[in-house]
Amino acid sequence: MVISRRNLLISGATLGAASAASFLSWELSKQDTNARVVVVGGGAAGIAIANKLQMYLNGVRITVVDPRPYHWYQPGQTLLLAGVYDNKEDVISPNKQYLNADIRWIEDQVTEFDPDNNQVLTGQSGRLDYDYLIVSTGLELRYDLIEGLDPDQIGQDGISSIYHSPEAGLASHRQAMKFAQSGGGKGIFTRPHGAMKCAGAPMKATNLVEYFVRQAGQRERFQMDYMTAENVLFSVKVFDARLQEIWQERQIAHHYEHELKAINSQTKQAWFGTKEGGTIETSWDFIHISPPMSAIPVVRHSPLANNSDFKGYLDVDKYTLQHKRYPNVFGLGDTVGTPVGKTAASVKSQLPVVATNLTALIREEALPAQWDGYTSCPMILDVGHAMLWEFDYTLQPVTALPFEVVDPLKESKLSWVMEKSLLRPIYDVMLEGYTPI
Ligand SMILES: Cc1cc2nc3c(=O)[nH]c(=O)nc-3n(C[C@H](O)[C@H](O)[C@H](O)COP(=O)(O)OP(=O)(O)OC[C@H]3O[C@@H](n4cnc5c(N)ncnc54)[C@H](O)[C@@H]3O)c2cc1C
Repeated sequence: MVISRRNLLISGATLGAASAASFLSWELSKQDTNARVVVVGGGAAGIAIANKLQMYLNGVRITVVDPRPYHWYQPGQTLLLAGVYDNKEDVISPNKQYLNADIRWIEDQVTEFDPDNNQVLTGQSGRLDYDYLIVSTGLELRYDLIEGLDPDQIGQDGISSIYHSPEAGLASHRQAMKFAQSGGGKGIFTRPHGAMKCAGAPMKATNLVEYFVRQAGQRERFQMDYMTAENVLFSVKVFDARLQEIWQERQIAHHYEHELKAINSQTKQAWFGTKEGGTIETSWDFIHISPPMSAIPVVRHSPLANNSDFKGYLDVDKYTLQHKRYPNVFGLGDTVGTPVGKTAASVKSQLPVVATNLTALIREEALPAQWDGYTSCPMILDVGHAMLWEFDYTLQPVTALPFEVVDPLKESKLSWVMEKSLLRPIYDVMLEGYTPI
């Protein structure tokens, strides 16, 4: 068929009418309510769910409480280490850029949860009453559990840690380059025990620094040791096996069940607790630290915590994301006590589940949506290559797309381009409440 201008105009008008109709039917399907929803924590999960609920509920009054005056795009931290991002403005932006105008933002922190009285206590804004509560407070980085380490040391004397902050991401890149150009030495990369956000990041950091060392020449004069408190590299068997292969080729050694306990930045020594209950001491010239992580104190000391299985994380049903004892409370993001899923990719797949289930609760219906534990980790291999790893509660590879675009076991330029250039726009769209893929 020849596509004439007239045909194009007709199809444009038809499409326009169809989208206007679907917008209208979406608007009509919104649930009317005057409920008060308080969202505690306005990071990736908090901003996104507040915006998404505005799309599901008509008349709802949403308040977000968060003390952080800016938004921090944390997946960009590995790109700071890679040197692809070179400014902290690459990972921070104003919160208001993303927020629907009808949402009330309180720049304050919650100091106490009182779920028996449907209230939260804030530092400076008094008590807030709610009908429904969403907890999305992320997690706490526990640098304090490593004896001798002051986070101010990050970026000095060979100490790096991309987890800490945008500044630490930039400083970690500088330390890594200095190490790579030093002519030889020992690099240590740590991984704490238990749940952590982006559990792939300590391995991405190892790969990037090894790449810098290789690029600088004299690779044989460097020793690279990955020390993990876990007994596997990665929880998905095929991914684990693939990484072991790559590390064998690149001569990156790994040591299981070694947990960083203490460090001395002057003598450049580190002490690791071992499975047998002993301690081993090792020297280093460069160290990348991934600190232990737990729920934030206000959550872990509250009636909302699961202190038996999940180190004080929020005690939710792992499928519906509803709190197990307080039905008007939901959680999403890093703070939930689920077996996997502390990534922004998990937040993206949790959003429709929480929005659908909260709407059903308001309608006094059974909760229809279930989260499958989806998470994703673009395993960066060097500046230019990555492998896109996605999985869920089954610990088997899956894909969020209708078909597999890249083989997750092949080093791929396309996966790198996705990590470098596509993840951010998808993330920004997610913050606005949309979940296109
Ligand atoms: C180095 C690194 C690399 C990563 N790479 C990836 C990746 O490649 N892909 C991916 O999908 N994910 C990645 N992530 C993980 C991703 O960034 C997180 O999973 C995501 O940010 C979780 O969102 P969240 O809202 O739960 O937590 P956050 O975004 O951390 O937000 C928590 C919010 O809670 C607020 N808060 C804390 N305490 C209180 C309180 N008492 N009262 C009120 N508010 C409070 C904080 O100020 C913060 O704004 C990475 C993370 C890091 C650190």
